[in-house]
Amino acid sequence: MYKQILISLCLLLHNSSAFCWGFYGHKQINHHAVFLLPPAMMVFYKPNIDFITEHAVDPDKRRYVVKEEGARHYIDLNRYGAYPFSGLPRNWNEAAEKFGEDSLKAHGIVPWWIHIMLQRLTNAFREKNYPAILKLSAEIGHYVADAHVPLHAHSNYNGQQTNQHGIHGLWESRIPELLAATHFDYLAGKAEYISNPQKFVWQSVLESAAAADTVLELEKTVSLQFSPDLKYAFEERNGLLVRQYSSAFTTAYNEAMKGMVERRMRQSIFAVACLWYTAWVNAGQPVLESAGSVHFSEEDIKIFGELDKNWKAGDIQDRTCGN
Ligand SMILES: [Zn+2]
Repeated sequence: MYKQILISLCLLLHNSSAFCWGFYGHKQINHHAVFLLPPAMMVFYKPNIDFITEHAVDPDKRRYVVKEEGARHYIDLNRYGAYPFSGLPRNWNEAAEKFGEDSLKAHGIVPWWIHIMLQRLTNAFREKNYPAILKLSAEIGHYVADAHVPLHAHSNYNGQQTNQHGIHGLWESRIPELLAATHFDYLAGKAEYISNPQKFVWQSVLESAAAADTVLELEKTVSLQFSPDLKYAFEERNGLLVRQYSSAFTTAYNEAMKGMVERRMRQSIFAVACLWYTAWVNAGQPVLESAGSVHFSEEDIKIFGELDKNWKAGDIQDRTCGN
């Protein structure tokens, strides 16, 4: 019995710590983005909101299958000098010419990958390929949300260089899971057309990079006020007792950051909705069908199953976010 609990504990810790924004955050962001869409898109997105929500985490699951997947979730901007990193061309071809593709991939490619996903989503709208629209909407939502996380724009992504191991999961999983339902306001206005998506996405990652030092510094400051036995505690998570950052420490850290996590979550929701909307407009605003749920091919269903299977097996192919 105890052994069983211990095994599930380990699995829980392993799986929950490996995801960017955590499963909870990504699902919340995609879910809330749907409500920012105009009626002509809402008729299609709303009946499919469960798919958009659940599959917000597919790109993280894919990291257990595809080695190249990891680099699509972050960019270590501090490797390119100081803010605003003007030595790094925002255009992929120019950046690749200057640094080489392998080097760019080694330090993360999230802003460029979002651009590719946006092209794919625009094409899916043009073709009115409903399964593709849903899959790509769910996935671009994931990458856009990752681009809003400060520690996705910094090489010290889990405090591993400064003895702050675990800070990644603290910022993007523990805080939202503990506080979002009761303290966060997701109201983010209406989706807007983005005339220069490249600039828009770079703005997000630049803001993330600019906030990374604050995220790291404040964790250190707040830690000074907590002895280790108060910083960590055995508390319930998904019905299990697990050792994690205590509620008191998590709350104090969140307060020290003055709502940064909530703000970045809300900005993620807005950005996701804006890019869905922009893809639809650029595709010529096709009329979307409202009725029924979308039929996925056997191939799609097989791929979803594979993603789940490999994720549960837990053998990640690249660096993880939170452990
Ligand atoms: Zn991710």
